[in-house]
Amino acid sequence: MLTEELQQRTARTIMRTYARFPVSLVRGKGCTVYDAEDRDYLDFTAGIAVNALGHGHPDLVTAIERQARRLAHVSNLFYSEPQVRLAEQLVAHSCADKVFFCNSGAEANEAAIKLARKYAVQRHGPDRHEIITMHNGFHGRTLATLTATGQPKIQHGFAPLPAGFVYANFNDVASIERRITPRTAAVMIEPIQGEGGVVTADRAFWDALQHLCRARGVLLIVDEIQTGMGRAGTLFAYEQYGIRPDIITLAKGLGGGLPIGACLATDDVARAFEPGSHASTFGGNPLACAAALVVITALLDGGLLEHCRTVGDYLHKGLQALRQHCALITDVRGLGLLQGMELAIAGQPVVLDCLARRVLINCTAEKVLRFTPPLIVTTGEIDRLLDVLSGVLKKQQAAHRQHV
Ligand SMILES: *Cc1c(COP(=O)(O)O)cnc(C)c1O
Repeated sequence: MLTEELQQRTARTIMRTYARFPVSLVRGKGCTVYDAEDRDYLDFTAGIAVNALGHGHPDLVTAIERQARRLAHVSNLFYSEPQVRLAEQLVAHSCADKVFFCNSGAEANEAAIKLARKYAVQRHGPDRHEIITMHNGFHGRTLATLTATGQPKIQHGFAPLPAGFVYANFNDVASIERRITPRTAAVMIEPIQGEGGVVTADRAFWDALQHLCRARGVLLIVDEIQTGMGRAGTLFAYEQYGIRPDIITLAKGLGGGLPIGACLATDDVARAFEPGSHASTFGGNPLACAAALVVITALLDGGLLEHCRTVGDYLHKGLQALRQHCALITDVRGLGLLQGMELAIAGQPVVLDCLARRVLINCTAEKVLRFTPPLIVTTGEIDRLLDVLSGVLKKQQAAHRQHV
């Protein structure tokens, strides 16, 4: 699967932050990627919920090519039309009024944290700076966002962590309410805890959370970095919960594979930023924005949102059906094309067995298989995944029975 040479060169020069699969991918088309020996793999990871339009989508390639010839980057010292066009689309189709562009999810959340603090401190005084986030959540790897990430394993070794973050339980409004004090600036939360194991919360929770935040003058920041841009079957997952966040963060699927992040906010909140408050050299550069415009156009005008809902439902039902025949599966949950399957055993051996059968999936939270294919995935491709997964789980179950 991989030349040993590439593995060795990687070990010599790249920092050891990733446990990689022994595969080197060199090209892709649609939902299929190919390794250096031209073996094909069905891609149900989409670069961790990034490649919304799949690999090598002709419209995306054309737009990137065209923009690269014209102008790739100018910085924010100047006006840029692709950036404004993208912002206009995001604002027109969300409850937000203003956008700040950056280059990744962690940066989008950094912007959200800075904006929430600045707004709350201006409005209520210097003590109003705390952000409540959820245990088991994920918001990124910078110092502030790993502190916002309520997972000890991600924070370990990086003390001292920035002050001003407290943790509550997901899907538990009483636990959030207990942590609200005169110091609370905002609650920051994912619509679905993606890295935390595709964990969902019920609609009553979102209702009550919105109510609570309004009543206590606390901002609601929704981290849509994984769930946004159609992944959950609507442009933003929050739409399905009937809430109106004050701040929304995006990245992953936004650029269809090019690095871009965004922090969206209502006018009232966005006014807390003034020239000099925040900045990004690359943020919203014409190349990334041209790519993102293709993605959002496909979602809104190309029928991709409806497609995602239909095939997402098909995938969910297919995974549920496997559960009828496999005792190792303890839960199936998710929205649209962000689906998780919780197992009674570790997920990694299943992931490796699928890889050997040339289907790429991934595992989060130890026991949860996560399925995030490109949004253009077909029912035929879903059938192939289900077929392979069914075989792999049967084998695992037989092996497991022998052990117990
Ligand atoms: C991936 C992710 C992030 C971090 O994004 P990066 O681009 O890796 O910095 C933050 N929040 C959520 C919900 C994510 O899924």
